[in-house]
Formats: sequence, structure tokens, C-alpha cells
Amino acid sequence: MSDVVNAFMEGIIAKNPGEKEFHQAVREVVESLVPFMAKNPKYMKAKILERICEPERLMMFRVPWVNDKGEVQVNRGYRIEMNSAIGPYKGGLRFHPSVNLGILKFLAFEQVFKNSLTTLPMGGGKGGSDFDPKGKSDNEVMHFCQSFMTELFRHIGPDTDVPAGDIGVGGREIGFLFGQYKRLKNEFTGVLTGKGRNWGGSLIRPEATGYGSVYFAQEMLGTRGDSMSGKTCLVSGSGNVAQYTVEKINQLGGKAVTLSDSGGYIYDEAGIDAKKLAFVMQLKNVKRGRISEYADKFKGATYKPASAKAESNPLWNHKAHCAFPSATQNEINGKDAANLIKNGVFVVSEGANMPSTPEAMTAYINAKILYGPAKAANAGGVATSGLEMSQNSLRLSWTREEVDQRLQGIMKAIHAQCVQYGTEGKYTNYINGANIAGFVKVADSMLDQGVV
Ligand code: NDP
Repeated sequence: MSDVVNAFMEGIIAKNPGEKEFHQAVREVVESLVPFMAKNPKYMKAKILERICEPERLMMFRVPWVNDKGEVQVNRGYRIEMNSAIGPYKGGLRFHPSVNLGILKFLAFEQVFKNSLTTLPMGGGKGGSDFDPKGKSDNEVMHFCQSFMTELFRHIGPDTDVPAGDIGVGGREIGFLFGQYKRLKNEFTGVLTGKGRNWGGSLIRPEATGYGSVYFAQEMLGTRGDSMSGKTCLVSGSGNVAQYTVEKINQLGGKAVTLSDSGGYIYDEAGIDAKKLAFVMQLKNVKRGRISEYADKFKGATYKPASAKAESNPLWNHKAHCAFPSATQNEINGKDAANLIKNGVFVVSEGANMPSTPEAMTAYINAKILYGPAKAANAGGVATSGLEMSQNSLRLSWTREEVDQRLQGIMKAIHAQCVQYGTEGKYTNYINGANIAGFVKVADSMLDQGVV
């Protein structure tokens, strides 16, 4: 099988040079799919794998804007429309200086499978810019968002492509983007998700990715007759996903002891309780400060700056039961995974996209721990975006309890699909489960729709 995978990957690498994150994401999926397709040759014959790796369309555009000093700035904008076999393109926008074509293609590719797993009718897409909102005034962020949407608006629409947030794109940015779309199109439609409550947003959407990844961990624990109660948890990041991961861990009786940002991480053995979390939310969402301030504020907490030269991240080297990587891609390498396992971690539920390197994933599988890969574990965010789209189309809004219940139902359904397709003997390989289950629905739809 590995010869088939290698031959396929040679083609992908030749066609998409330098896009290493995209290659990584494709290889992971292809490794799961090749044995499955050998038993189901109809997919091979229709070249579904080759087609699914090729974006249906991609846009790359100039985003000029003027900063507060009156200086002209130029960024690059992108939108990747990866696959629309099961619904309009759907996926977030990322604003971060590291953004490039390869990163967005990996995210768009993952999104196709993730959206399929949610059971909702959503295709896959992703977009963003190398713009860095950090250190910019609200006025600068608004001018950038308006310029970005001045090009993007012609490519998206409620039945075509519905973007949402991701790293660097939260409620503030979605507001500025929506305002400009509405102004240009003279239309009030559900063209973006993650909107404010007063103008079409859904309750629970801000919480959904973090809550969903904890619900997924709870489902995995349930297969061993266990639960989140009493579990010590390592969480990375301190943005949207990390914050609501901590909130749900607390609500289910667990204890989160770490948080991080690109500057470093904090460790608080006593646990990040609701009061401390409220401080983090104010610090990150309003003051836009650094996580190091947590250790200044709370006695007993320590802060360690990040080191680019370190071989491993000390955040992943504490005694714990569960890990919820919720910052960014490739934040857990092989050494980190070995440290997690050595310290007693037996549940990894990925809030971030592709946070574990291939070496880390191999370590989890070899140790037979409960490992929920991103496309299953963090699908709660896009699922609730799907629920926001439904509410917009129906022109009504569901209660908090109703949305949360649907979210829990969706996370259960995703878990069940992973178990169905990924169980080998007594162990569920959730990587294979998520990849195959996500693939089947999209691939069958592509077969139905002919060669397009
Ligand atoms: P936010 O921008 O709200 O927060 C991102 C957090 O991660 C910040 O603490 C940030 O620190 C940290 N971070 C970002 N890049 C790096 C880096 N290169 N090194 C170290 N730390 C970094 O983003 P979200 O919480 O929305 O997203 C986090 C992850 O979850 C991403 O992988 C995203 O793709 C994924 N995700 C998000 C969804 C959503 O609904 N928002 C849905 C599904 C997945 P700093 O501020 O210092 O940069």
C-alpha cells in the first residue's frame, strides 16, 4: 500500500511545490483511503482522489489599505473553493502573518472531510490573508476588512460560499466584513457565520468549537466507561477555541491547568476556574493583551516564554489525563507526544487544525490512546455555523439550549461515524474513521454528479 501512497504523493508534490502543510494533510488522508479504495474500486475508476485534491477554484488578490499614519499597506488575500459536492463552500478566514497558499489549501482540504462528517450539507473552503491584526487599531482592522471584502464579495454568497472566522478573525472582524458585504450587495443575507447576536448570529456559535472538542473527548472516554469528571487537562492557545474548551472542561468537572499564546504558556496547578477564565477572556478579547499577564495576576501560576530553538514544548510535559491542542498546526511534535504519553495523558482531542505532526499521530496510535483528530474533534464550530445558516434561512433563532443540544447530537453522530469506519479489533483508529466516513459522502455525491 505504501508504494501506492508514495506514487500518489509524488504527483501531489510535483503539482503543488513547496506547499508542505498541504502535502502533510493529503498524505494523512490518502494513507487511510488507499486500503479502503482497494476494496471499493469505483472511486479509483472515477479518479475521485485526484479530483478531491484539486481545488474547484482559487482566488488570490491584492488588499491595499491605509494605516493610521496615512501610509499605504499591501496584503495578499485568498479564498480557496475546494469542493461543493454536498453544499455551498464553507470554511473560515484566517488573518495571520504566516498565511500562505499551502496553509490555506491544507485547511480547505481538511474542511471538505470535516464538513461532511457534521451530517450537514456544506462543501469545503477556506481563505484569509497574511494581514496581522495584532497591534493594529480597530480603525486599521476595519479598513483592512473593508478592502478585503471589496474583492471577496463577488465570489461568495449565501448559496455559493459562506466564510466564517478562524485565527485572527473573531466577532469584530466578522462585523466589519459583513458590513462591507451588505453595503456592496445591498442585501442582508447569511453570507458569513459567527455574526453578532443582534444581526443574525447564532447562540453558542462562539462557544461551539471548544465545547465540541470537549464533547468529543467525553464521547471517546465513554467508550471506556469513563468521563471528563476529575480529569486534569492541558490546553494550548488562549483564543476562541481555547477559552471555551476551558469553560466546558470546568462545566464537566475537569480541571484545565495550562493556556498559551505565541509568546509562551502559563501553568496553574490549582486550575483555571470560571473567575480566572473571565480574566483571560477580558485580557484576550477586549484588552488584547498577552497571556504572561495571567501569571502576574494569579498567585501560584507560572509563565514560561516560548523558545524557537527548543526541541519540544514544555506545555505538553506536565502530569495530566487529557490534552486539548487549541492554538495552531504542528504544535505537538513526536517528542511532545512522547512526553504527553509519559505523563499519563490518554486522551487527545484536537481543537486546532492539524496540531499534531505525523510523528505525534503515530505515537498516539502506537500507544493506543484515545485520539480525536481535528476534522472530527473540532467540527462543532462549523456544525454550529451550519445551524446559523439554517436559522438565517428560516429567519428565526433557536434558544441556547436548542443549539447546544443539536451540537451535542452532532458530536455524538461524528463520533459514531468514526467508530463505524475506524474500529479495528478492539481499538478505534479515529484517524481512519474520520477520513473514510468524511470521504464516502463526498465521493458518492461526486459520483452522482458526473465528471465536474
Ligand atoms: P484565535 O485567533 O482566537 O486564537 C489563536 C490562539 O492560538 C492565540 O492564543 C494565538 O496566540 C495562538 N497561536 C496562533 N498562532 C500561533 C503560533 N504560530 N504559535 C503559537 N501560538 C499561536 O483563533 P481560534 O481560537 O479561532 O483558532 C485556534 C485553532 O482552532 C486554529 O488552528 C483554527 O484553525 C482552529 N479552529 C477554529 C475554529 C473556530 O471556530 N474559531 C473552528 C475549527 C478550528 P497569539 O495571539 O500570540 O498569536
